Order: sequence, then C-alpha cells, then structure tokens
Amino acid sequence: MASNHCPVCGKKVGGLTGEALPYPRLIEEATSLGVNQDYICLNCLENAVNEYKKIHPLPEGKESSLQNIIYKGLKKIFISPSTVPAEAQELGLITGYCILGTGPLTTLVSSVTDTLGIKSNAYLDKVRLAEDEAIDMLKLNALKAGGDSIYCVHISLAEATSGHGMLMVSVYGTAVKTQSPDEDIQQAIETLKD
Ligand SMILES: [Zn+2]
Repeated sequence: MASNHCPVCGKKVGGLTGEALPYPRLIEEATSLGVNQDYICLNCLENAVNEYKKIHPLPEGKESSLQNIIYKGLKKIFISPSTVPAEAQELGLITGYCILGTGPLTTLVSSVTDTLGIKSNAYLDKVRLAEDEAIDMLKLNALKAGGDSIYCVHISLAEATSGHGMLMVSVYGTAVKTQSPDEDIQQAIETLKD
C-alpha cells in the first residue's frame, strides 16, 4: 500500500508507523460539516471538527440528532406514583404541564361519561395527548435535574380559565437518581448539560 500523508500536518498516515486514521463516525461528522479531507489524520480531523464547532452554531441536522439522544433517554425514564425507594437519591420536585382548549369542561365531562359507556371520542384523545405532553415535559425536567426516574407522580386536570374551555394538565413528582441509570438516559443527561 502506498503511503499517504496528512494534508494538514504532513505526517504519514495509516499503516503500522503512520498517524492514526479517523474513525468512521468522525469522518461522517466531518463530512457533514464540510471539513473532511482525503488522508487527513485523526488528530488533524478532530481539531478541524472542534474548530468548526467553535465558530459555527449547530447546523439543523446536528441539532435534531441531539434531540434524538434526548428523546431516547426521555422514553426510558421510569415514572411511578409510589414513594421514592430508600436506596435512591432524591433530586427534588419537578413539574410539567400542558394547556389545551377543548371547549367548556362540562362538555369534556359529559364526553367522558360517553366514553365510559363505550365510545371513544376526540376530547378524551386530546386530553390524553395533553397528558403525554405534560409527562414528557416532566421527564425532560427530570433529565435536566440529572435524574433517571420520577417517583411520587401526581397528575391533575383542571379548567385553566373558568368557562372558557382552557384545560390544564399538570403533573409533578420527585426526580430521582437510581444506582444504575440506563445508558441512553445518562447520555441524554450529558447532552442537556452543555
Ligand atoms: Zn495530520
């Protein structure tokens, strides 16, 4: 194999004696940022990527991949209405909420009655979506606090403005760090720290 030289530092790359070659994920990232070069060595490419990041804000694609990391961790957070286990570390109160307009609460209540009498309906589906959203916010706040679980979770549904059909779903709980947090969750916590 012919020896190649790094276009940045000029050192021989690859083989047994040359500079280390970049690993695939770094090449992929560098290519997406437009800083990759043929035969560039690991050190120089790492520097190039770091330099680029220093002067450029996160491009959209990168940002959404960070969102994916956070989302992946979010989905793995354990939530429970029960009390905090003795061996876990409490990180404090966290909250989440979602406000939605559905029409007057009385309509909602009667539609709930309908649902119990078998039929599914749009209001209830909407409330469930709002509940999910409030819980996602709760989980995000748990990650921000460095937690991987949430205990003592309470959910409440209230009319936010009397008679105007604004509903508020609010949730609160205790963020908790267990002894062996999931890897995806840990990664999400790290991502949120920056
Ligand atoms: Zn180099």
